[in-house]
Amino acid sequence: MLYFNHYDIIIVGAGPAGISTALHLAKLAPELVSRTLILEKAQNPRHKLCGGGLLPDAEVVLRHLGLDVTEIPHVDVDWARFDFDSRGMRMRAEKNGRYAFRTIRRHEFDAWLVGKARERGFLIQENTTVKGITASEGEVVVTTNRGEYHTQVVVGADGSNSVVRRAIIPHEDLHVARLLEIVTEPKPEKSVHRQSDSYFDFVVIPQGIQGYVWDFPALEQGKPVRVRGIFDSNVNSFKADISLRFALDEELGRHGLSLSDYKLEGHPIRWFDAKSAFSASRVLLAGDAAGTDALFGEGISIALGYGRLAAQAIRDAFTRKDFSFSGYKRSILQAELGKALCRRTWLAKFYYWFRSPPFQAFVWRKMGWFIAWAMRAFFIGWARRQESHKPAHL
Ligand SMILES: Cc1cc2nc3c(=O)[nH]c(=O)nc-3n(C[C@H](O)[C@H](O)[C@H](O)COP(=O)(O)OP(=O)(O)OC[C@H]3O[C@@H](n4cnc5c(N)ncnc54)[C@H](O)[C@@H]3O)c2cc1C
Repeated sequence: MLYFNHYDIIIVGAGPAGISTALHLAKLAPELVSRTLILEKAQNPRHKLCGGGLLPDAEVVLRHLGLDVTEIPHVDVDWARFDFDSRGMRMRAEKNGRYAFRTIRRHEFDAWLVGKARERGFLIQENTTVKGITASEGEVVVTTNRGEYHTQVVVGADGSNSVVRRAIIPHEDLHVARLLEIVTEPKPEKSVHRQSDSYFDFVVIPQGIQGYVWDFPALEQGKPVRVRGIFDSNVNSFKADISLRFALDEELGRHGLSLSDYKLEGHPIRWFDAKSAFSASRVLLAGDAAGTDALFGEGISIALGYGRLAAQAIRDAFTRKDFSFSGYKRSILQAELGKALCRRTWLAKFYYWFRSPPFQAFVWRKMGWFIAWAMRAFFIGWARRQESHKPAHL
């Protein structure tokens, strides 16, 4: 039977995971480009709450796709500082790097990615909200606010509140981190922070918040700003003694700012759990919908990395005419991306459990050299490790 609204592949969500899946498909199986539809509920450029910290892993994936992020406004962050109560260590993601990492604003970054996908021939239909999906033996029906679509394969790249995920895994424990964010003017007089550096301060851990407060430099419409926020991974079951809002306000007070002067926004992040499902017959999850970094909530590079694995699985499914995606979870867990995510979830559960201030002070003030080494060896740098042991066409 032929349907007007029939595509072989429907990608739900035009964020980094969805667009990366598309761009990798264009590289791996160009014949699938015209048979793919991307559905996005918003219209670009759209607001996306995010610190915009872009690790070199993201740039490795983008370069693999022939993309150069310096085409859009960005800040080269000089040093990333990891502190407990304003004292600790500093590092750059790459040992001999010229900068720690970059920051971008997500409305610009995501719109740029969407433009690249359109240039490569993808049809992206915006203002289309997916309400649900129903998979049967021969196809998947995607229900939206603009009608029904029929397809062979759906990629759920629709973020942490994924509708696609809920359709294939209806009953599961919530594995979500909580984040609050504000954008402020550049460094106030009272702040000891340097405008060129980014700061992660774990001072909130003794109060039961399993994360940190952050302060990044960024460019908003050409003007320097600071993006500040608080991250609570929520990986262990104990509850914090104070609210995230109160903890962030306290931190801002140390820098001469008050939360009441700014627009506060919050959003969850679904963190990676190796025991969870990542696919069902004819359906794949990617990016936050699949699960991301529990340790720092660093999800842009991860979303881009998932796109590559999802595209490989789709190419193989069409080659073999087997749409079960039964090997997708294995491919994630065996990839350098999956190994790094497993380690980050494990470390988050372990590290955020220790609330003692002397322990936290010792970690960041005395163990800096070890942390920098371990971070590069096991937790970041996965994209380069993946490149080094994959044939060029993958
Ligand atoms: C406050 C905050 C700060 C963060 N800071 C950083 C940081 O500094 N660095 C970093 O690496 N990561 C950061 N993250 C995490 C990062 O933003 C996410 O991991 C990343 O955006 C995941 O990309 P994604 O493509 O999976 O999902 P998203 O970026 O959420 O994209 C999903 C897309 O799907 C669309 N969509 C959703 N539902 C539907 C639907 N039903 N139908 C159609 N379309 C739909 C959305 O509009 C969106 O465009 C932060 C997150 C938060 C909340």
